[in-house]
Amino acid sequence: MKFESKFNHGDFVYTICYKDKYKEIPNGCKTCNGSGKVEISGDIFKCPRCKGYIEREKDSIEWYVSNSGKIGKIEITSYLNGNSYNKSGVNYMIDSTGIGSGTVYNEKNIFTSRKEAEKECIKRTEQQIEN
Ligand SMILES: [Zn+2]
Repeated sequence: MKFESKFNHGDFVYTICYKDKYKEIPNGCKTCNGSGKVEISGDIFKCPRCKGYIEREKDSIEWYVSNSGKIGKIEITSYLNGNSYNKSGVNYMIDSTGIGSGTVYNEKNIFTSRKEAEKECIKRTEQQIEN
């Protein structure tokens, strides 16, 4: 069995990840028009009728360039049952977010230029790709 990593120790890379974006569901409150807040003499208060309770639901995801740094750890994981846990593959740790303990980045979320990383973020956000 032979493994190859796309990046090497010391390579300066940009990492991307995504966050969930939520939208507010109008709560139907007549006092605050569903905003959960009321304004009295220029001050903002929690609505006394609905107690400011606003439900949120996941609307979409947004990819962004999360970090950059030099690769300091390369880890190859291979499961007998292939990619069943989506954890197989080459993972990296970079100096700015910790080596040994810290954030682990999968190879598919690492790029050698910020431009390339930003381009991929736009593409994945448009297509709502979660991985
Ligand atoms: Zn209200």
